[in-house]
Amino acid sequence: MAETLLEVKDLVVNYGSIQAIKGISFDVKEGEIVSVLGANGAGKTTTLRTISGLIKAKSGNIFYKGKDLTKMPAHKIVQAGIAQSPEGRQVFGTLTVEENMKLGAYSQKTADKDTLEWIYELFPRLLERRKQLAGTLSGGEQQMLAISRALMAQPKLLLLDEPSLGIAPILVKMIFAAVKKISSHGVTVLLVEQNAKAALKLADRGYVLDVGNVTIKGSAKELLSDPKVQEAYLGKK
Ligand code: ATP
Repeated sequence: MAETLLEVKDLVVNYGSIQAIKGISFDVKEGEIVSVLGANGAGKTTTLRTISGLIKAKSGNIFYKGKDLTKMPAHKIVQAGIAQSPEGRQVFGTLTVEENMKLGAYSQKTADKDTLEWIYELFPRLLERRKQLAGTLSGGEQQMLAISRALMAQPKLLLLDEPSLGIAPILVKMIFAAVKKISSHGVTVLLVEQNAKAALKLADRGYVLDVGNVTIKGSAKELLSDPKVQEAYLGKK
């Protein structure tokens, strides 16, 4: 049985008086792809940003390799081996593709050549466009770049926030295929998605978030055949 890499326990996150996360618990084992599903505003992004240390938890714990992250600053969390590709991509438009990627390696001080080569193998489109300004890339290409920038930190755990959002279906396919390869390379993946079908096809396990609570959990197979998941997230009646 694989070891637990990340354990989120009774996590509560507030924005002022609004409780966005209401005491959720879930875990990610080494080598897994785990998907967090849920509608708009369910708290998916908040969960990832709290793991990354960008938002502070009100209470609860986030254990990574047994160590509590909730009091750790964001840069230390990156150094510990967790990197996030944010929702909306947030690439630096006036920098080139390669400059954006190298920024992702700031925690290592210098960009690792082998990692850069591996990423270009993963996304050959970025190699072709490495001198192009990131702002001129298509949405899908910017998404590839956001994932690549996170990979440059050489994470053990990659947090992906809605990689399929607003992207043409052909590029979504490419990106999900790349996530599979990233996983085969030994990187554990926590994937937040509204595209439940694509996410569950890729994932080992999943959790459904509903207004700040985990309401359904199980293997990807179980979730795909769960009538409640089918109705609410897979468009089946
Ligand atoms: P989406 O898929 O739309 O991004 P989500 O599941 O990622 O949704 P979150 O962005 O985590 O959801 O938001 C969870 C709740 O917290 C929502 O009710 C949202 O309005 C609220 N929220 C998020 N960010 C803030 C903020 N900075 N200030 C106040 N409330 C916030």
